[in-house]
Amino acid sequence: MPELPEVETTARLLAGAVAGARIEYARAPGINALRSFEPPLTALVGEQVLTVRRRGKHLIVESSGGLALLMHLMSAGRLQLYDKPAGPRDRSSRLLLGLEGSRELRLREFGSRQAAWVKLLPVSELELDEALSELGPEAWPEPPQPPELGELLDAPRPLHALLRDQHVIAGIGRSWVDEILWRAQLSPYKRGGDLEPDELERLRAQIIGTLGGAIAHYEDTLALPIPDKLPMPLIIHRHEGEPCPRCASTLRAVHFEDYVIAYCPQCQTEGRVLKDRRLSRLLR
Ligand SMILES: [Zn+2]
Repeated sequence: MPELPEVETTARLLAGAVAGARIEYARAPGINALRSFEPPLTALVGEQVLTVRRRGKHLIVESSGGLALLMHLMSAGRLQLYDKPAGPRDRSSRLLLGLEGSRELRLREFGSRQAAWVKLLPVSELELDEALSELGPEAWPEPPQPPELGELLDAPRPLHALLRDQHVIAGIGRSWVDEILWRAQLSPYKRGGDLEPDELERLRAQIIGTLGGAIAHYEDTLALPIPDKLPMPLIIHRHEGEPCPRCASTLRAVHFEDYVIAYCPQCQTEGRVLKDRRLSRLLR
């Protein structure tokens, strides 16, 4: 599940390795992955990679000629650098970018679903693309200060849903939201509009601390090649049934079709254990 810390780390590691490299070919073997028509991918050939950077959960590979590959890894994608081209039996690649020295930058996707996507567009049009133009402010390193953050979250919706909504704030997903709310000692179903000023301060501090801590952890532990399975340093998400690291009471979870909310009843919900049905209605 690449979220802000994983995408930021990917961008940093790759930027250091491929900046300046000449692009020798660009292909999109995944039939559904390329979501733009003009300019064609071949427009990248002969240009150099300028940088790799992140916006929200998107990766952006910029070229020296003013083009940008905008990508979303969705839930099972990775952008990885290899020192030789993919073989003919490769089925996981959605985009191949051949670099000088026979290296290859590959957008790969695991599992049977094809959800990861790529667009090639002029850098000058990046922020106009609907994928970026509708994003909220970055969750890290500097999320909005309380008056503005309070306005962003001022909705009759649960925090868990608000923080994962990329239009509200960009970069947080299903995994890190559990860690942030646990650290801020806030209930996942507390309404954004009901946050007290001190809770808003705490939430902002823990958004920065949690995401920044994850990035620092990856800086210490990850190097190229980026592994297929990222070891995410989560202590709450997917840890239901284990003791809370703060108070030792049992962590609980509420299961939904495509995500799970994990929390500590003692630290976050005044001892209340959330019922699945009630929450599924609240979070709609
Ligand atoms: Zn606890």
